Amino acid sequence: MTITEGVTMLQSSAGSHVYLVDENVLIDTGNPGEFDAIWADLRLLGVHSIDHILLTHHDVDHIGNARRLQDQTGARVWASSEDIPYILGEKPRPGIKRIIQRIVRVEPPRITDSYGVNAQFGDIRVLPAPGHTPGHVIFLYRRVLFIGDLLAIKHGTLRLFPSYLTWNSQAVFRSLALLKTLQFDWLCPAHGQPLQRNDAVDRFLRPY
Ligand SMILES: [Zn+2]
Repeated sequence: MTITEGVTMLQSSAGSHVYLVDENVLIDTGNPGEFDAIWADLRLLGVHSIDHILLTHHDVDHIGNARRLQDQTGARVWASSEDIPYILGEKPRPGIKRIIQRIVRVEPPRITDSYGVNAQFGDIRVLPAPGHTPGHVIFLYRRVLFIGDLLAIKHGTLRLFPSYLTWNSQAVFRSLALLKTLQFDWLCPAHGQPLQRNDAVDRFLRPY
């Protein structure tokens, strides 16, 4: 599904969305076990190589196919320095995520490097937005904002994640304050359908 020029949401990753940007960058990699479907999607779109895989955060439903996509395409894989130890299994995930990681085994990707300060990949800017995890980031591409799990979108409405899935709620609120300062027309979440900016979006963000 094309969102705007240069931005495609892959059909195969409905549970946790994967976005293709400028035909050579993937944002997140979906739930484990979806590699074949994601790869089929990419082939259908005429994409045979990916330069960069940009991870919003360490949760298994975002890094699920990073390793196989990397092996298949030779992509470089990037994540925040705070979240890399969780991705590599050097630190246990907190709370319920610790139980999930025991049940859902994910082979970690080879991380190329962490995002530097003011990191940018072509027209994609990396913006720290901690809270859901310590090193959660969002991405701004032209006027499209990829929000990872900073917020979910359900039936066209913005939703906070429940606190048991959140590393630090106060940090989430500060990240929402940052979001308010950005120029965007589209919000693209991992969970839910992309949403065009409207009055309800601005009303939701106003208290932060
Ligand atoms: Zn998620």
